[in-house]
Amino acid sequence: MSIGTKRGRGRLLHIGYAGDAGAGTRAASTAHYKKMYDRASALARIGVWECDLATEALTWTDGVYDLFELPRGAPVGRDAALDLYEEESRREMEALRAHAISEGSSFSLDVRVRTAKGNERWIRLTADVERENGRSVRLFGTKQDVTAERAAQDKVQALQAEIIHMSRRSAMGAMAATLGHELNQPLAAISNYVAGTRRALAKPALDTGMLESGLAAIEQSAVRASKIIRSLRDMTSGGAVRRQQLNPNPLIHEAASLAMLGIDEPIVSRFDLAEDINVAVDPIQIQQVLINLIKNAYEAVRASARREVIVSTYVAEGEARIRVDDSGPGIAPEMRDTLFESFVSSKPDGMGVGLSISRTIVEAHGGSLSAANRKAGGASFCVALPLAEDA
Ligand code: ADP
Repeated sequence: MSIGTKRGRGRLLHIGYAGDAGAGTRAASTAHYKKMYDRASALARIGVWECDLATEALTWTDGVYDLFELPRGAPVGRDAALDLYEEESRREMEALRAHAISEGSSFSLDVRVRTAKGNERWIRLTADVERENGRSVRLFGTKQDVTAERAAQDKVQALQAEIIHMSRRSAMGAMAATLGHELNQPLAAISNYVAGTRRALAKPALDTGMLESGLAAIEQSAVRASKIIRSLRDMTSGGAVRRQQLNPNPLIHEAASLAMLGIDEPIVSRFDLAEDINVAVDPIQIQQVLINLIKNAYEAVRASARREVIVSTYVAEGEARIRVDDSGPGIAPEMRDTLFESFVSSKPDGMGVGLSISRTIVEAHGGSLSAANRKAGGASFCVALPLAEDA
């Protein structure tokens, strides 16, 4: 084995190996190690370097020359080598190097370089200090081409940024859809009551009582619309949820009559409600959930011979349960896995957001919303909420 020994301040030394012809086992094993080293360093795109701190002479293995696309063995001074570093990388490296020399410590850094042939590369630099009599005398370490790794990282970062951007956009889309969906119901109610009031006005004998109640219902729906907006705003801005301790029965009755608006078929609604259950909820939000579930049930039974919707409340496993059962066709098998996802609907004019909003609301109350098909036929949706004393 021979080693090039061209030394001098700021000059580069090249280790050139040559097989030692006629040498014994030691030389043979050295040649073997050298072959192993060359193969491994080419495979890992890594080279070894050393810098004598007294003379600033550099010693590079072939791997380092290859990284910088310089002819192997060519003399290169430290300044010339540093010229290949991108400005910021060079500053960072010099700072770490100075610190390592004064402290006798090691460092590692990814630096950006432009090779002698003008190609951009990322090089992972590791360095350690060799000390003699308490003084740092030599720096040594590795240089590895990590361009592909950095490109992959950049790609992942770009994709992550894209995902964040997309999810923000889809959150905004979902928010708009939610608002549209929730407001649809009071607005439909307002237009129904306006039509009724108009009919009352057209009659020859003016029924002021009817007009009065029509106007009161319009006012109620308008207030409801503004409450929906406020409650949704609170929910999205993380504002305090307006929770009240209450028995849910009045909410359920009101939700059933609001859900009925716009549905003309006669539907039997049965209520089996416990009187002594209390929950701590935002009434507007929970009523919205109930309207969604009961409206879905009404729509499901529309085409059935037996049109029945049963709403029941009870306590099970220490929770308040509100269940909406219907006698419709049940949840279609293809809908089962995606039922609670946004924008999934089997209805020609469905938005497919009702159940996803409902689940979000119930979960924000510390509860859960589940769905199943009934043995007797039809679907069953169950809202489970903590009892008021546990909430
Ligand atoms: P939409 O009613 O706009 O479709 P939802 O999120 O409320 O949106 O419901 C999603 C889907 O879940 C419905 O399209 C329907 O396929 C199914 N679904 C909901 N409620 C019932 C029910 N009571 N019976 C059968 N399927 C139901």
